[in-house]
Parts: sequence; C-alpha cells; structure tokens
Amino acid sequence: MPEKRRRTSRKITVGGLDIGGGSPVSVQSMTNTDTRDAEATIAQIKRLEAVGCELVRVAVPDPAAAAELGRIRRAITIPLVADIHFNYRLALAAVAEGVDALRLNPGNIGSAARVREVVAACRDRRVPIRIGVNGGSLDRELLDRYGNSPEALVESALQHVGLLEKENFELIKISLKSSDVMATLKAYRILAEKVDYPFHIGITEAGTRLRGAVKSAVGIALLLHEGLGDTLRVSLTAAPEDEVFVAYEILKSLGFRQRGIELISCPTCGRTEVGLIALAEAVEKALAHIREPLKIAVMGCVVNGPGEARHADFGIAGGRGVGLLFRRGEVLRKLPENELVEALVAEVENYLAARQ
Ligand code: SF4
Repeated sequence: MPEKRRRTSRKITVGGLDIGGGSPVSVQSMTNTDTRDAEATIAQIKRLEAVGCELVRVAVPDPAAAAELGRIRRAITIPLVADIHFNYRLALAAVAEGVDALRLNPGNIGSAARVREVVAACRDRRVPIRIGVNGGSLDRELLDRYGNSPEALVESALQHVGLLEKENFELIKISLKSSDVMATLKAYRILAEKVDYPFHIGITEAGTRLRGAVKSAVGIALLLHEGLGDTLRVSLTAAPEDEVFVAYEILKSLGFRQRGIELISCPTCGRTEVGLIALAEAVEKALAHIREPLKIAVMGCVVNGPGEARHADFGIAGGRGVGLLFRRGEVLRKLPENELVEALVAEVENYLAARQ
C-alpha cells in the first residue's frame, strides 16, 4: 500500500461532514437534474446517497431553483451545496433555505457590500464557501498577465480568498480545476505553499465515462499521492452515480477509503473457458449493495483461477458449463455455470450475516 501522506489543512465542517484536517477524503458529486424540479433532484440525490455520495452540489441558476433548496435539503441526508454564479441574491436565498455550503466566487458578485452581506449570512449559519476556479473562466486581466497557466489559477483563487479574509471569514475550501492534468497538479502544488484551507480536487471536463474515468483517476491519484486533496469530485459526462463509483475506485486503489467490493477479475487469455466479461459485470452488479470491504475474484478458468486469486475473500472460476466457488483459494463447491453468480452472492451474504 502506498504511503498516505496528507498535507496539513485546516478542518471545516459542511453540514456535519468534516473536510480537511486529516478527515477521510470525502466523495461528492453534482446533480444534473433541473433544480427547479425538486422531485427529480431529490430522487437523483437519493440514488447518489445509496452509492455512497457524501456531499452533493446542485446548480442554482435562478430564484425558482433557490426556492426549492429547503425542500430538497429536508428530503435528503447528505449535505447540500448550492452552486451559484454571479448573483449574490441567489446566494442569500440559498443560505436562507438552509443549504450547508455555497460554491461561489466572491469576486464575481460585485461590490464589497454584497460580499459582506453574503459573508454575514454564511457566518451566522456556519455555512462554508467553496471558491472554485476553473481554467476556462479566468479573468482577462489574469490571462493577459499569466496566460492560461497554473499560476493564473492560483492567483485567481487567492484574489477570491482575499475578499473573504478581508471580512474575517475563513470557512473556505478551494478548488483549482483545469482539464489539463499536469496544470492542475502544478496549480495545487503552488497553492499548497500559500494557504492551509482544505482542497476540493478533480479534473474538470474530464470527458465521457471511460475517458473521463481514466483522466480523473490519473489526475486525482497524482494529487492524492502528494497529499493534496481533502474532498473530491470525479467530473464525468455520465450519470452522477458513475462519478461516485469511480471516486471510490480511485480512493480504494490508493488505500484512502474502503467501501464495498474490490473486484479482482482476470484479463482472460487463451485458456478462458467462460464468457468472463459478462460474468464479471453480473457479479459487480449483483454485489453493488455490499458496503463492507471484500475482495471478490472472477476468474476465467478452473485450473489457474482459484490459485491466482487466493488472496480474494471469495471468488468464482468458470469453465465449460461448470465452475468453482472458492474462498481464499480453497474450493467450496463445483456448480453449473448459470448458478455461479447466485451462489457467490449467497455465500457473501451468509458470511456477512454470520459476522454481525
Ligand atoms: Fe487465463 Fe485462467 Fe489466468 Fe484467467 S485465470 S488469465 S483464464 S490462466
């Protein structure tokens, strides 16, 4: 397991969830429903909760969306973050509706008086503000001075931070996002030298399900390996539940979090005697409800499978219509191929029930 270094950051609390200060790296996502449609938004957040999302952000583009925030907040169990661009009245409305945090860049809402008003509302309710700087939306002045560079991202974040600090407000977390992995890494490294606020990390506009997962995994893993990151979102052009799934896979791979099964499946080879891709996907789906950390193997032949996966808690190996169910390399039973998944699920559930 890699060494888990963590940058020393200060801790903030978002609706009961600790972020920074050595707290577990939390997983968040963002809804893609129309926030004005509270029912659809609540339904999506409940699906996100079920897969382990710990913090959810919703877009608040107008007063009608802001007006639904309280209803959404009361119907869900994870903290709710309102994503607001430019309009300080929406920020005030969101705080009044009871959101747990804002994503807002104070430099974009106009006068110092407006910043002061928003900060006062946030301070009263202990509502943190995430400053989120994105490579695609930097000021012209910064672009002229630094180009579209990591330094420009950092400078922009520091300007926004300065506006909040001027009001003695320090319930801050920061994200610096670029669609360029190495630029993102460099930007966080520079910022880590300058402030100790917790970092929200991710690679923005990472892409579709598979490409985005790879790009996010590379970027997020590099950051986490350097100890940079207190909470994360994997941004995918896909269902938000997929973002949460990928986030946990990244965190599990690095040993930062444990949740649900770790699937060990062989890459298949000329000895494969079963439709392993479909079998592995069926196992993944059938065990998606398991929260306990367990290693589950799905192997393509009965000769080498159980031995190659002896470190797995449970596993199956397929071959010519029959297959083996095994536990830590020991064969438990031989079964018809079409009963393998069901038998594996039953074995796992019995094992977990016996442990309680
Ligand atoms: Fe090939 Fe069997 Fe190893 Fe899978 S478990 S890679 S099928 S030898």
